Amino acid sequence: MYSKKELEFDCPNCRENSTIVRGELEEVATDAVVVTPIKVFEDGEFQYGDEESLAGVIRKHQCSICGYVLRKKNGDFVVEQHEVFEWLKEHERERREEGECNQTRRRILTI
Ligand SMILES: [Zn+2]
Repeated sequence: MYSKKELEFDCPNCRENSTIVRGELEEVATDAVVVTPIKVFEDGEFQYGDEESLAGVIRKHQCSICGYVLRKKNGDFVVEQHEVFEWLKEHERERREEGECNQTRRRILTI
């Protein structure tokens, strides 16, 4: 069966600071409508069910640990899905190139 490979989010800021735990990619939206079912009891107690949020306005994408915000080359926030996809692809490529550099360096060191 064909299974899709997830693009890895490797936060550049966490990586630079050699943090062992890397953050996950988060979408930050504002102006979302949050709908929560409630139950009200005779003693005045309120019980809240699972909330469901309905489409807000996506403002940015960030690292869940350090809050590093993804930006486009012109400095604007990465907002659209295709921009997130491009950012991840771009940084995956950069990482691969860096990895190759490190390997070369290591090879030189061992000689
Ligand atoms: Zn981070």
